[in-house]
Amino acid sequence: MAPVKTILVVEDELKIARLVRDYLEQAGYSVLGAPDGESGLKLWRSHSPDLVVLDLGLPGMDGYDIATTMRRESMVPIIMLTARTEETDKIVGLELGADDYVTKPFSPRELVARVRALLRRVDGGEPGPEKIRAADIEIDVPKMRVTVGETTVDLTPTEFEILKTLAASPGRIFTRGQLLDVLHGISFESYERAIDAHIKNLRRKIEPTPGSPFYILTVYGVGYRFSDA
Ligand code: CA
Repeated sequence: MAPVKTILVVEDELKIARLVRDYLEQAGYSVLGAPDGESGLKLWRSHSPDLVVLDLGLPGMDGYDIATTMRRESMVPIIMLTARTEETDKIVGLELGADDYVTKPFSPRELVARVRALLRRVDGGEPGPEKIRAADIEIDVPKMRVTVGETTVDLTPTEFEILKTLAASPGRIFTRGQLLDVLHGISFESYERAIDAHIKNLRRKIEPTPGSPFYILTVYGVGYRFSDA
């Protein structure tokens, strides 16, 4: 049997925290709960959970601060819970390196499905090639390691999956919707701008000149493709 995965839930609203805990436990996960950012970070450091469900609006340190702190130290998968409906807030969360987000009010079932999809991706997902080489980028799939030339770059699970998908088929055009499908396994509502935020992060990490990309090219009005030059 696979070891039980631990999920850290940082959420100050007790009702929501309890609901999320119940559903995740029912799905077979072990759950750690924290009502604020400081105790969340403490639990994260002491227990190294497999995934973090992070509320954006928290007393004291908010979700943005916590995500930024976590990302400085690790690539742990992060799903943001946001009550804010403005698209820009969600995109900011993703730009800070969160892997996914769910907008309140949300269905706990959908959250569990997202957790499962994200963990499956981190575990390697469907079998495929172990190594992908495209231009001077090398992707070691089982190790989730990416090198650009001689430099190793740290990617979040989501950035890794997008790069892996694009680089495995240089020249092939992927629409934002197709990239979303790859990420979620199932197609949820279409957060197409989210893909743009992840691509922006990826470019910042791998492109010599992010403003004038060499590897990941925009296909205007359609999506993205990896350079086949
Ligand atoms: Ca809150």
